Amino acid sequence: MKLKTELVTILGSTTPAQLDMDTGTIYLNAPYWNYLPQAYKDFIIQHETGHYVLKTYNEFEADHYAFEQLAGKRPGSLWKMIETIADVLDGSSPEHYARFAAMYRNVMYFNYEDTGDKKYLLEIERFNREFLIKHRNVLRSR
Ligand SMILES: [Zn+2]
Repeated sequence: MKLKTELVTILGSTTPAQLDMDTGTIYLNAPYWNYLPQAYKDFIIQHETGHYVLKTYNEFEADHYAFEQLAGKRPGSLWKMIETIADVLDGSSPEHYARFAAMYRNVMYFNYEDTGDKKYLLEIERFNREFLIKHRNVLRSR
């Protein structure tokens, strides 16, 4: 599904894009949007489309929708999605860390299914341990 996009200026906001749930129009925040790499733009568009298609305000579901649309479609697509989340979200809320973690797990699991190599499952376990230790205090405040 391809939603309509419109380049606008959302004053006082650092959000790259905003979806109008009623019309399905994605408003791209020009001052911010114009500087993003193409791979980030692709992810954000799919993320907003996910909100619309799934009729959800849940950020994890929208991220997961974007992941499914883009994973494995282009060389480097997986790592680009991790990068997008890490760069675009500023870490100002616990949800940002949790979304990063969810995306990292998505990518590792995709690699496992793609190759059958169990090292990716071990990486998820390692990541979960280290991530929880590192962000225990942030996540506890959720
Ligand atoms: Zn969202």
